[in-house]
Amino acid sequence: MSQQILLLPGDGIGPEVIREAQKVLTKVISRFNLDIQMGSALLGGAAIDAEGVPLPESTMQKAKAADAILLGAVGGPKWDEVDRAIRPEKGLLGLRSGLQLFANLRPAVTFSQLADASSLKKELVAGLDILIVRELTGGIYFGEPRGIRVLENGERQGYNTYVYSESEIERIGRVAFEAAQSRGGRLCSVDKANVLEVTVLWREVMDRLAAEYPDVELSHMYVNNAAMQLIRAPKQFDVMVTGNMFGDILSDAAAMLTGSIGMLPSASMDINGKGMYEPCHGSAPDIAGQNKANPLAAILSAAMMMRYSLGLEEIACTIEKAVEQALDDGYRTVDIYTQGHQQVNTIEMGDAVTRIVATI
Ligand code: NAD
Repeated sequence: MSQQILLLPGDGIGPEVIREAQKVLTKVISRFNLDIQMGSALLGGAAIDAEGVPLPESTMQKAKAADAILLGAVGGPKWDEVDRAIRPEKGLLGLRSGLQLFANLRPAVTFSQLADASSLKKELVAGLDILIVRELTGGIYFGEPRGIRVLENGERQGYNTYVYSESEIERIGRVAFEAAQSRGGRLCSVDKANVLEVTVLWREVMDRLAAEYPDVELSHMYVNNAAMQLIRAPKQFDVMVTGNMFGDILSDAAAMLTGSIGMLPSASMDINGKGMYEPCHGSAPDIAGQNKANPLAAILSAAMMMRYSLGLEEIACTIEKAVEQALDDGYRTVDIYTQGHQQVNTIEMGDAVTRIVATI
């Protein structure tokens, strides 16, 4: 049976970058004779405009039926005034929770051609290739009780609850161990076990799992040290696994090591390996509609989708090599442009990668 990909272009530059990713996918599907069908649906502001809600039922049904989803970005000033309950971001959150996408995979890869764009010294980041595995549907962002209450003395107090059950830790741990097996074989689990009981349990579960993955070398690091080490010597890491809040912060820090948000893909996966793939950037309203956006994060998200949800490692590598080749050939969108290279627009970058995947 054919594998089904659902495209959700979304808003702002979303449709522009997804169009380029679709071009690349169409090319690899025909070149490698893959049995893959692509469909699309509305999400976010585009869905609010057309149907009054950010996540129409028809989109949810298509998302449930698909083997993998490729999303652009949602949101923008046009919808800033709409009721909070139907904001574009609600569509994205609804999709993540409706599909139970609990594992967020964020690679931070510095292409050697772009090492100059990082805020760190070139030698610290050239060749960087880290994968951060973040738990996405639990921890302090979702724990109950939560709120702001008034104490007896009349002072207000904000409170949240940091909880993880063993099963939640175990399922994210397995994703991380398996990712480490398919990469460099090293996994660093990040916690705050010297202070927080919930992460004492986290550490215990990771240690227990390690026995099942003897080919993976497990280490532990406190989150404060992990933040420091990411800036000091980021290349020491292969795969990092951590909870929702620590992962939120560390993955954004790691993203910046690479220099440009226009280059960073991500994946959010369920227990069966079905995933939603999206660039880390937003809808970039400041450049939307100007054919300026860098489509490489969307194209690299499509490569991740091939690898993690469709089981097509070779195709994923082909797409990634084509991106490398386009950079080697000197093509640069404005966000990654440096002197001596050829500045191209969104469509031209997509065309370059499409041309290259057809030949390598
Ligand atoms: P943003 O990522 O959209 O933009 C930040 C800056 O990076 C802008 O200057 C933008 O021009 C630039 N940029 C982003 N992607 C680029 C690309 N591919 N090529 C070149 N330059 C790029 O973040 P923001 O400005 O904070 O948010 C804008 C809108 O996007 C908001 O409505 C926000 O809610 C939404 N957003 C959506 C997602 C998502 O859909 N997953 C994520 C983040 C933000």
